[in-house]
Amino acid sequence: MTGLYIHIPFCSGKCKYCDFVSFEGKEALHSQYVGAVSREMKMYAGMTFETLYIGGGTPSELSTANLKKLLLAVQEYFIRVREFAESTVEVNPESISRDKIILLHQFGMNRVSMGLQSFDDAVLKSLGRRHDAARFLSTFRDLRAVGFKNISVDLIAGIPWQGRESFAETLSKTISLSPEHVSVYGLEIGDASKFAGEGVQPDEDLARDNLETARAALEAAGYVHYEISNFAKPGFECRHNLNYWDNGEYVGVGCAATSYQGGIRKTNAPLLEHYCDAAFEDENLPLASCEKLAGKEKTGETLMLGLRKLSGLRLTDEMLLDFGAELSKLEKRGFITLTDGTAKLTRDGLYLSNEVFRAFVPPF
Ligand code: SF4
Repeated sequence: MTGLYIHIPFCSGKCKYCDFVSFEGKEALHSQYVGAVSREMKMYAGMTFETLYIGGGTPSELSTANLKKLLLAVQEYFIRVREFAESTVEVNPESISRDKIILLHQFGMNRVSMGLQSFDDAVLKSLGRRHDAARFLSTFRDLRAVGFKNISVDLIAGIPWQGRESFAETLSKTISLSPEHVSVYGLEIGDASKFAGEGVQPDEDLARDNLETARAALEAAGYVHYEISNFAKPGFECRHNLNYWDNGEYVGVGCAATSYQGGIRKTNAPLLEHYCDAAFEDENLPLASCEKLAGKEKTGETLMLGLRKLSGLRLTDEMLLDFGAELSKLEKRGFITLTDGTAKLTRDGLYLSNEVFRAFVPPF
């Protein structure tokens, strides 16, 4: 299958741990940006996509009118939004109004992923988030009232100054709302983030402890742990992301977005103004990189992505030829199991996955 990803690189402020490609205070460029994304989508007109994912940044930062313009462009060049097997939009509580929720639902978007991070207002403030728990709750209720039946909630684990009780309370309040999907990410401090500048370090032991707590609580509540950071009620696993982990093809449009088709991975430049001005003709693409993945590099990528799934991945002859020695070493160290031709992360491998994945990226 092929997925379509649209990147909306705008945020209402900058979270202190984040160095993603997202811009604050660029409202004057929103409309122009949507125009550029539409021009880029036109290059792929007529392609068939099963899933649509509008991510960011914060897509809900766009006005109702700009969101409408974006969804109309999707429908002009591809299929009706309601015909995608899964169509996700990322939102943040501080910028999603009831009008926007109604618009997204009317177009047939069928999945919303919302950043909660914590139910503790002091923790939210310390992270530089711009919503509070009350705002999240009223948004969640609005989403349900308007008719969204597939909601994902993002949480952060391993915040050094968040007590274990506060994390456990966030989990139990989240579970009591019964979202269909929950993502729990260990706090990552981007190199160019405010926290990095202040010398804040993640607490890996606490992250592991929090993730164990999350896993036990979510599994007891009927969620399936299907990817390192992701839990879903049965049947609500994110199809768009599963395609990434299966090393499937996707088209990414927008500033800094990446596409992967026919073994070629290309990424747009992270320069907002440059992207907005691009004509999107053969000779005028705002690319930052374009590379052909082949041989060991491609096999390593497939292994690294596939191992993220708790069900693991079936090993091909090529994988065994290219990485047999590395796989045996990882098994001996207790990071993976190799059973019936399938490789899976162990509990230790799950929490040290970055170390495991290093075996599969160049230099080998
Ligand atoms: S973490 Fe998300 S909401 Fe916060 S600045 Fe980064 S992209 Fe924006």
